[in-house]
Amino acid sequence: MTGLSTSAVHGDDGLVPGGAVAPPIVQSVTFSADSDEQFTAIATETRGSAFYTRYGNPNHAQVAAVVAELEGAQTGLVTASGMGAISTIALALLCAGDHVVVQRSTYGGTTSLVTGLLSRFGVSYTQVDQTDTEAFARAIREKTRLVLVETPSNPLLELTDLSAVAELAHAAGALVVVDNTFATPVNQRPMALGADLVWHSGTKFLGGHSDVSAGVVVGSAELVERVWQTAIVTGATLGPVDAWLLLRGIRTLPLRVERHNANALALARALEEHPAVARVRYPGLPSHPQHALAQRQMTGFGGVLSVDLRAGRAGAAALLDGLRLAKRAASLGSVSTLVVHPRSMWAGIVDAEQLAATGIGDGLVRVSTGIEDTADLVDDFLAAADKATG
Ligand SMILES: *Cc1c(COP(=O)(O)O)cnc(C)c1O
Repeated sequence: MTGLSTSAVHGDDGLVPGGAVAPPIVQSVTFSADSDEQFTAIATETRGSAFYTRYGNPNHAQVAAVVAELEGAQTGLVTASGMGAISTIALALLCAGDHVVVQRSTYGGTTSLVTGLLSRFGVSYTQVDQTDTEAFARAIREKTRLVLVETPSNPLLELTDLSAVAELAHAAGALVVVDNTFATPVNQRPMALGADLVWHSGTKFLGGHSDVSAGVVVGSAELVERVWQTAIVTGATLGPVDAWLLLRGIRTLPLRVERHNANALALARALEEHPAVARVRYPGLPSHPQHALAQRQMTGFGGVLSVDLRAGRAGAAALLDGLRLAKRAASLGSVSTLVVHPRSMWAGIVDAEQLAATGIGDGLVRVSTGIEDTADLVDDFLAAADKATG
């Protein structure tokens, strides 16, 4: 097995035709056959790349192979977005009457999928506090098919004990599905800790440049094939150009994540000392309540942190207004530092009561560090924090 940087560059060797060093974009939805026999063969091939692009495309195969190698999984597939990935996984593996365990604090789209769409189709659910492994044990029951996990979670940076939860789920015959968007395989490899499927919003760190929407699913050949059978029906197909852009981003993933990690740790340390700040949430800080777990299951602590301002909403607004380099924008995992006030972003989507119940206060700001110079970012945030004392 090679290192992650080598996998990011060479994980698709053998899948690129001819002598091209950069893979060509195969912008074709259909592929010709020389005979009826050959046509039948390509049309019935599982996850083939030479029939029709909704079934597969060479650009899909290349990027899926690279992410599978990075995550230590047998194989993978790509979708048009992260939500395309998790909704296809759910529709592939669940039936009416099944039960799902999901974290209370998870990506908003994942919450909506479980509590809205799936429940309309007769799939019940239990939401749990991810920091309490016993809560998973209490929630898992005979009908539980999937345990949906996200760690660190958005935007509170709480952790799930992956190997403990995998053990509990497997003992009950349930599958563990992990959203590894925040950590990336550079910082955390859930397959090695017992995950059955790992998925990503490729829109975030994997793509890395805020210029492509994509999703990825990796796991065993058997499970990925089941997801693929559903993907060709639901049709969240990634365009070949976007698959190419995603792969282009992934080539530098380990390099970028190294800088994201360093920038987030430096910002977390600097802001924790600032009088305007009540609390910094970052798994890499010794003050994080689950720092020991972070050290056990992560090799780096990621590019995202959250900051609670003492002056509440006014403090959060002053911090955001005062920033020069960081942009006020949704999404994360970009080369550019992005900041959001989660309560404002989700005001029309998740009700205030639910947000407050999950601990997302009015003074909370989420920071997704980019790859700018560390000193410039620290200066930008400290200057803005000086104006946020209330
Ligand atoms: C953005 C995000 C998603 C959804 O991905 P899209 O590509 O926007 O569909 C899922 N999980 C996490 C943790 C995310 O940040």
